[in-house]
Amino acid sequence: MRQVVVVGGGIAGASAAWFLTRAGRTDIEVTVLEGAPSLGGKLRTVELAGIPVDTGAEAMLNRRPEAVELAREVGLAEAVRYPATTSAAVWSRAAIRPLPGGTVMGIPAERALVEPSGVLSDEALARIATEPEVPGSGLDDDVSIGRYATQRLGREIVDRLIEPLLGGVYAGHADDLSLQATVPQLMPYLREDPSLVHAAVRARAAAPSSDVPVFAGLDGGVGQLVPAVARASGARIRTDTTVRELRRTTTGWELVTGPTRAPELVRADAVVLACPARPTGRLLGSIAPSVAADLAGIEYASMATIALAFPADAFPGRLAGSGFLVPPVEGRVIKAATYSSQKWGWLGERGAGTVIVRCSVGRHREEADLQRDDDELVQAARADLAAAVGVSGPPIAAHVQRWGGALPQYAVGHRERVARIRAGVAAHPGLALAGAAYDGLGIPACVASARQAATQVLAALPTPGTMTA
Ligand SMILES: Cc1cc2nc3c(=O)[nH]c(=O)nc-3n(C[C@H](O)[C@H](O)[C@H](O)COP(=O)(O)OP(=O)(O)OC[C@H]3O[C@@H](n4cnc5c(N)ncnc54)[C@H](O)[C@@H]3O)c2cc1C
Repeated sequence: MRQVVVVGGGIAGASAAWFLTRAGRTDIEVTVLEGAPSLGGKLRTVELAGIPVDTGAEAMLNRRPEAVELAREVGLAEAVRYPATTSAAVWSRAAIRPLPGGTVMGIPAERALVEPSGVLSDEALARIATEPEVPGSGLDDDVSIGRYATQRLGREIVDRLIEPLLGGVYAGHADDLSLQATVPQLMPYLREDPSLVHAAVRARAAAPSSDVPVFAGLDGGVGQLVPAVARASGARIRTDTTVRELRRTTTGWELVTGPTRAPELVRADAVVLACPARPTGRLLGSIAPSVAADLAGIEYASMATIALAFPADAFPGRLAGSGFLVPPVEGRVIKAATYSSQKWGWLGERGAGTVIVRCSVGRHREEADLQRDDDELVQAARADLAAAVGVSGPPIAAHVQRWGGALPQYAVGHRERVARIRAGVAAHPGLALAGAAYDGLGIPACVASARQAATQVLAALPTPGTMTA
């Protein structure tokens, strides 16, 4: 039997195991090695006041098929749910205001769609109409989305529209993030015409109109997905098994796990590395040093989620919508709040009389808030919620989940970096990479990267009938 070892038991690793075992190859055995005591990575569900609450990812993009299709295939079809409300808000200029419509990741396409929210001053609104006249030429290279937008649209639009939306996805800063990697749909237009507003108009017009809900979740929590995928794959799963070293042998690969004094060697014919960029880089240090250097250059934002359970009467009225984003310029501790009980009908029903609100804290290179202990974080989140939506009294239960190295930062030049990494790895047949560090950090993108990695390693393992002597 050929041995394929997958390192990392998050959604990318579990999906890689699924695609490997589903290929119908009877000559292959798949093993997943996960360093943590349980599978899941950034997908995790905990019980709070007796209600399952996701402390990592809580929604799967539904307009891309990969994640929801996988959930259905591994037995979770009955659990797929769509948000009960999708209207989001921004806490800006001392009020909770509707999230402006008509933007692409905060880049406005039309003044008339942005104006009613009251998020922007008249001066900033006027910049939307004049931006196409700002001189410039088509973009050949990647640029920082924040700097480019500041130059053309002014700082207020970056601070109050682009930052909160990007911050919600990457926990990063617009000035550091790549335009090409974070809003790839704008790039073809920006090559011809430097106007961000024109590009946003064209990208919106090109996006197929659809009644399909944008996001989906799972009744009982998205945290169920990884164990379900791993189980359905039939792969051998080993938790508490950190891979410390990867070596090339004359016939394949050797992975080193176990304590340094009593190392265990795991032999493999092919390997999928489905762990974050840093550990992947360390494992490739001696095999592909330039790939390892590129991987080491992918920075991560750390963050925490603070899930709070309140009695329903702690709020002055019914919460409206699914939650709010907070622009960094507001100077608050929390950067977003999700009204989980409102957003997910199943969660509201299971916790009748209890309102779950999930706050997130922490941005790239801004870790001071994360140094507070759990009680302080809960107090800070509660104080921000009191100011934003008037919650009174302490929560009846709270859960703080810290995510060190939570989200990869797609910095300027990310796409080129990933192309170099992939070219370097292609020189080693039987080795493939998967996960959030490369072509998208959402769950569907991680599943897609796993499928690609599985295809690559299977191609490198000839079926017995095609083996040459
Ligand atoms: C708070 C939060 C909220 C998010 N919300 C959403 C959302 O709503 N929707 C969405 O689509 N995405 C969301 N994301 C992003 C998404 O969850 C992640 O990008 C994705 O889950 C990453 O999956 P992965 O398998 O690539 O990596 P990970 O989940 O990081 O899994 C990698 C695994 O590798 C293991 N590992 C590392 N090194 C080793 C080693 N040497 N040996 C063995 N094992 C190792 C780790 O323990 C880990 O389990 C969110 C992320 C966070 C942090």
